[in-house]
Parts: sequence; structure tokens; C-alpha cells
Amino acid sequence: MYIKLTERQQLIVVISLTFLIISIFLQVDEYLANKEPYTISYESVNIRDMTEPHISTKISKTGQEEIYKELGDVAEVKMESLNLSATDTTNSGKPSRIWYLPTQIGSITTYPNMGHVAYDITSWRGTAETIYPVAEGTVSGMYTDSYGALIVTVLHNVNGKKYTSQYVHLSRYANGLYVGKHVSINDPLGQMGSTGWSTGTHLHIAVLDCALFDPKDPNCYDLNAWYRYDKKRLSENFYGLGVLMYVPHSWNSR
Ligand SMILES: [Zn+2]
Repeated sequence: MYIKLTERQQLIVVISLTFLIISIFLQVDEYLANKEPYTISYESVNIRDMTEPHISTKISKTGQEEIYKELGDVAEVKMESLNLSATDTTNSGKPSRIWYLPTQIGSITTYPNMGHVAYDITSWRGTAETIYPVAEGTVSGMYTDSYGALIVTVLHNVNGKKYTSQYVHLSRYANGLYVGKHVSINDPLGQMGSTGWSTGTHLHIAVLDCALFDPKDPNCYDLNAWYRYDKKRLSENFYGLGVLMYVPHSWNSR
């Protein structure tokens, strides 16, 4: 049977099919995203107590060597996974989630070491990967560094203690983002990118226990101070995110 459609009807069919295809595509994308595990190995890096280092087998041999070379003498390396607390028990004794992952999907390619005081996270979604705050807070900086990297910083107050998270190499800022804006963990900060001194699309994320750009904070009143303090804290085994990160098994947990 042949049904002749008017031009108007044809248009409606085409539009409907387009919407159907887009919705299927979005579903598949969502499905794939759900399937993709966060190949994270925060359990790998001994955070709190370097006298008893733990390494995950997930990190490449070279990666491990680099980390420990930078951290100085390590008497013994235990090849076991550490149940790095996903929660903060330092203040209240009661577990509470502190840091969330800054992306929905990703894998860590670089861990903190004295030459690199941050984690690098890549995503197969590239610049389509949205960057979120690791905790709720207030946007304290939106700036470009001397290499041209787009950067956002967020100030957090966790149990009265100030922390700053720094998100580097973004391809663009989220619409409507401004310094002073309050952000929850579900408010986009921007998109993953490769701006500045970067060899590929990734997020460089650092968390430090100071308030960047706060003139009253002697440790972090400017970027040079931040950098110096970052190195100092790393030498004291403070790993920012690694210390108190809540590690979900998949991005669903975010
Ligand atoms: Zn980096």
C-alpha cells in the first residue's frame, strides 16, 4: 500500500525521526557512560602515612617509581591495595563525604609528585567532559595563566577549615560562572580541555588547605604563594584530594 504524504506531513515525519535518533543517541551515550568504570586508583597512593606506603598494582611500574622517587626514601613498598578512607574521620570521628570526583568519567594519568602537585585526569569524552567542583563552595578565581590555561578555583569550607580546589586546562568556562558564585557539586565549572601548557585534553586538579587569592591567607594570597605552599604540603605528605576523596566505583555515585 502506498500512502502519499503531503509536504507538511513529510516534514513532521522527518522532524519526529530526527528527535527519535537524537534521543536514542543520548540514551546510548548515557548507557556507555554508565558502563565506563572510573579507572581510578586513589587507593594506590599512600596518603596519610608515608612510613607505610601502599601501592596499587593498577599504576604502571614507571608511575610508581616516579612517585616514590619524588617522595624520597621508602623502606618497603607493600603491593596491596589500601582502603584509603573515602571519608573524613579526622574531625568528627563520624565518616562524612568530603571530595567528589571532578568528572563523571576519567582515569588518572599523573599523581602528585614534587614536580607536579596535582592529579591529571583524562576522559575519553575529551572536551565533552564536564568539570564539576569536588565539593560545594564558592568560585574564588577564573583566570588564565601565563601559558594560556583556563583555570577555575573554588573555595571550600569543610568543618570550618578552608580548602581551595583548582581546575586547570579547561576548554571553556561554564555559562554564567563568575567569581563569587556559590556552586554545588552538580554545578558545571566548564569543559575539559588542553589550554595552556598541556600535551592533550585532560583536567589538572589540585586541592590545597588554604584560601587562594585571600590577602589574609599568608600561604595562598597569590599564585606564587599557592605554588610554594603546595610543594611544602606535598613534602609533608598532604595530597589534597587524595587525603579525603570520596571514591565512587562509577560515575553513578557522583
Ligand atoms: Zn597536571
